Amino acid sequence: MVQIFLFSVIALFFILLLLLYRRANFEKKYAQSILNATPNLIIITDGKELISANNAFLNFIGYETLEAFKNEHDCICDFFEEGDTDEYLVANMNEKTWIEYILEHPECECKAKITMHNKTRLFKVSASVVESGKLFRVIAIFDDISELINKSTMDALTQIANRMHFNLLFEYALTMSQREQTPLCMIFFDIDHFKAVNDTFGHSVGDDVLRHLADLVKNSLRKSDIIARWGGEEFVILLPNTSLSFAIQIADGLRLRIQEEPFEAIGHVTCSFGVTEFRDNETGDTFLQRVDALLYKAKERGRNRVEEG
Ligand code: GH3
Ligand code: MG
Ligand code: MG
Repeated sequence: MVQIFLFSVIALFFILLLLLYRRANFEKKYAQSILNATPNLIIITDGKELISANNAFLNFIGYETLEAFKNEHDCICDFFEEGDTDEYLVANMNEKTWIEYILEHPECECKAKITMHNKTRLFKVSASVVESGKLFRVIAIFDDISELINKSTMDALTQIANRMHFNLLFEYALTMSQREQTPLCMIFFDIDHFKAVNDTFGHSVGDDVLRHLADLVKNSLRKSDIIARWGGEEFVILLPNTSLSFAIQIADGLRLRIQEEPFEAIGHVTCSFGVTEFRDNETGDTFLQRVDALLYKAKERGRNRVEEG
């Protein structure tokens, strides 16, 4: 009798254990399928090691399983690239990990720039903590905002930075130049007699020239230089950490490249340039005004030339 009772209790215990295991398994699958249904990249870590990730993450990094990724990399932050503002996460954030940094800076509009398979994507990154006793997990969500950022920061015709975005980058470049005591130069340039191009060949050919010219100049600059469409047929280039003498060489090099470039349907165009260096005790506005005045001077003095100051 006692034996039957004991056997029943043990059997009940194992049935309960099995039920609990099946339930936990179901909960795990259920949670994973919710993670997999979201288009955002989601990773779960214990603060140091990757514990789990959703399909969107695996698809993006191009690995079939998380283990395969972990065999080759310690951290997704191996792929973080510096961006053009200080909101971009990097592997080492002043001796903190990127996760520690996000958790300690809830006000941060943190972003990550990652290039995979030759495609650069920008993510807004947020993180939250789940804690229970000694268990500690961080859920990090990477929201792909590349299209949004491109639309709001790029000029639609030329696909270089628009003026609004330039102002933001300009402010950042000025702060960095003052903080690090490094020279900052700026070039303004404008296509010569562009109205005649539109009048002779039509507005759509004029648009092609603007696109072609923006590509040509963008591809002639260094990675750290910033080019933007100031408006119409006028462009601005910021050259961080560049002396005036080198900026003048860059401007004249661009002038010659443009002069020699064959443009489809129209032949050749030329541009006039103003170039100057940021001076101590001036504001961003006076810096802009001075470079604009130099461009005006280049126009007055016959076009297709560089005026420096
Ligand atoms: P200058 O050498 O003094 O700069 O002469 P310009 O003819 O280039 O200057 P102006 O300011 O008289 O004319 C600028 C022209 O640029 C007029 C305008 O139609 C053209 N333009 C501005 N934005 C665009 C654009 O997005 N597409 C096209 N096709 N033309 C544009
Ligand atoms: Mg012009
Ligand atoms: Mg103009």
